[in-house]
Amino acid sequence: MNIKVIAFDADDTLWVNEPFFQETEKKFYQLMEDYLPPHSIAKELFKIEIENLVLYGYGIKAYILSMIEAALHISENTISVEAISRIIEFGKEMLDKPIELLDGVEDTLKALHGRYKLVVATKGDLKDQHKKLHESGLGHYFHHIEVLSDKQKIDYQKMLKRLEVEPSEFFMIGNSLKSDVLPVLEIGGHACHIPFHTTWAHEQIDHTIEHPNFREVESISQILSLLS
Ligand SMILES: [Mg+2]
Repeated sequence: MNIKVIAFDADDTLWVNEPFFQETEKKFYQLMEDYLPPHSIAKELFKIEIENLVLYGYGIKAYILSMIEAALHISENTISVEAISRIIEFGKEMLDKPIELLDGVEDTLKALHGRYKLVVATKGDLKDQHKKLHESGLGHYFHHIEVLSDKQKIDYQKMLKRLEVEPSEFFMIGNSLKSDVLPVLEIGGHACHIPFHTTWAHEQIDHTIEHPNFREVESISQILSLLS
């Protein structure tokens, strides 16, 4: 591998994210328990979230708007103003969560810093992701952060153009096979999967990957041996 740029996914790669969504979703099930059982609420909310992706993109603000829409739909527009207000609070609580770095992240970045151009490549809300990177204390390891509206092949191709790097010189690291690995392999880049213990349904794929540019490790510090 002749790698020049290493891009790290942020959520559930550098810091904890998905468990906070799951925690909030449980509060939503409680809020809506008079209308439907949890699994039906989950199904309804997920459907609305996916439909709204094209309009809102990813992140907490989109999630909260979808939750309000689901509450209106599930209650047939009878949900109380107080309940809507609670949902807005759920979002603000999520946005205020302190950063929980994953094990080995800082030492790994420290070891790679200066040897490669390091960037963060993430989906989500622009403001929230910038804030999280700032609060993580990791900002100085990275050349910059790319907040992408999606992580399809075209988004990576545009990013590589901005970075002035060939796909063969690019290494993407993340917890989502669907977003962080597959599109990067398809454009000729290198990708490493670091599974997180829980993954949003939308990021799951139902097949295994075999590709010469694909790696999988259990923890972020193991990428150092892949690069040496
Ligand atoms: Mg992620």
